[in-house]
Amino acid sequence: MRRPLVVGNWKMNGSRESSRQLADAIVSGLPSGCQVEVGVCPSYVFIHLVADVLGNSGVLLGSQNVADQDSGAFTGEVSAPMLKEFGCRLAIVGHSERRQVYGESDDLIAGRYQKAIEHGVTPILCIGETLEEREAGDTFKVVDEQLQAVLAKAGIQSLDEAVIAYEPVWAIGTGRTATPGQAQEVHAHIRQQLAAQNPEVASRVRILYGGSVNADNASSLFAQADIDGGLIGGASLKADSFLAIIQAAMENS
Ligand code: PEP
Repeated sequence: MRRPLVVGNWKMNGSRESSRQLADAIVSGLPSGCQVEVGVCPSYVFIHLVADVLGNSGVLLGSQNVADQDSGAFTGEVSAPMLKEFGCRLAIVGHSERRQVYGESDDLIAGRYQKAIEHGVTPILCIGETLEEREAGDTFKVVDEQLQAVLAKAGIQSLDEAVIAYEPVWAIGTGRTATPGQAQEVHAHIRQQLAAQNPEVASRVRILYGGSVNADNASSLFAQADIDGGLIGGASLKADSFLAIIQAAMENS
C-alpha cells in the first residue's frame, strides 16, 4: 500500500509574509488524522521561515532543487547538507522548468538526485514529455530515457528513497491537464518498466502526477491505480485549493 503524497511547488512566488501565511493556513487546515503525506517547497530564501511555521505539524519541507555537489565554488547552488540543516526532507529534481528554461541535462539531474539520496533528502524526480514529443508518439521513449539516465547512476534501489513525478510539460502551468486515462497510461508504463528491473521497488515507489492539478480534477486523477498523489504548482499557492486537493487524495486512498 503506497501512502499518497501531495506536494506544493511554490516556484518563484511569495514574500516573507505571504509564505508564512500560506504555510500557517495549510497547517491549520489539514484534516485531522490526515493519512496523506503533505509537503511544501517554498523559494530557498523562505525555507527557514516556513520551517518555523511547519514546526512539528508533520508537513514536510522541501526545496525546488539541490546541488550535485556538497560544497565549494558552485555559485548559486544550494547543497543537500545545507538544506538538511534547515529541515528540508524533500527536494524537487529535474523539474521541466529547470530542464527547459535553464538547460539542465539528464546527467546534471542525475548528479543532483544522487546527492539528495546520499544525504537522506528525498528527491522528487520530475520526468515528462513536451507536446511535440507526445504528438510524435515519443512519450514512453522520453520518460524512459529521463528515468534511465538517473537509474544508471544511482541504481534502481535508490527509488526506495525517492519519489517520481510524471509531469507532461504541455500540462504544466497551462491549465491543460492530462486526462486521468492519459496520465494513468504513462504511470502504468513507468511502473512496468521499473518492474522489469525490480518488481518490489516498482510496487513500492510513489509516482505523482503534476500538471494543472486543481480542486476540481484532483479526485479523478488520484482515483487511478498508479497515481499516488500530486505535485501541485499554481493550485498550491492558495490554501483552500491545496487543502481541497489533499482532501481528494485522502478520499481516494
Ligand atoms: C509544477 O510546476 O510542478 C506544476 C505541476 O505546476 P502547475 O500545477 O501549475 O501546472
